[in-house]
Amino acid sequence: MTTPTIGVLALQGDFAEHIEMLRSLGVDSIEIRLPAQLARIDALIIPGGESTTITRLLDIYALREPIQQLGLDGLPIWGTCAGAIVLAKEATDLDRPNLALMDITVRRNAFGRQRDSFEEDLRIPELGEEPFHAVFIRAPIIERVGAEVEVLATLADGTIVAAREGALLATSFHPELTGDARFHAMLARWVVGRRS
Ligand code: GLN
Repeated sequence: MTTPTIGVLALQGDFAEHIEMLRSLGVDSIEIRLPAQLARIDALIIPGGESTTITRLLDIYALREPIQQLGLDGLPIWGTCAGAIVLAKEATDLDRPNLALMDITVRRNAFGRQRDSFEEDLRIPELGEEPFHAVFIRAPIIERVGAEVEVLATLADGTIVAAREGALLATSFHPELTGDARFHAMLARWVVGRRS
């Protein structure tokens, strides 16, 4: 069996940081810009950046439908920040279609000016005892989760900032910017679980 390869959507945003994180774990990765490249991957990461730009480029590069199909077929897909907006069934203030795969509603730029960007240590039982240092940058929040969606992390006030639905994962924050590779390692484990 060949070793798994995780694709990172590389149209816009901080895809390089995700690739670096995967490299630190010894996981093979590939930058995705063309539909044909999707054939080689066992999971996909959609990075942070600007969701309006990413959705526009998904259409220009003819990637939206093939990625949607892979998601429906059960490919593990993880969206961070703007990536979570791209993955959600419903997103406020998005002017074009996104992937609409994960049964969550996200509100873009949900933190007012004062909390535009902030950092907070989160308890995420799924990742173990050690708190996860989360970096929020003009982040969305997850306003609604569907019946099949499991909440993985909330802020102290109960705001949902990480969730999972089967092999779909959404985080409002940016694990690729912290040096803590536990989310990336979890995605790699899902790939192995699915293949064996
Ligand atoms: N504010 C951006 C958006 O709405 C997300 C920011 C980010 O990915 N850090 O797309």
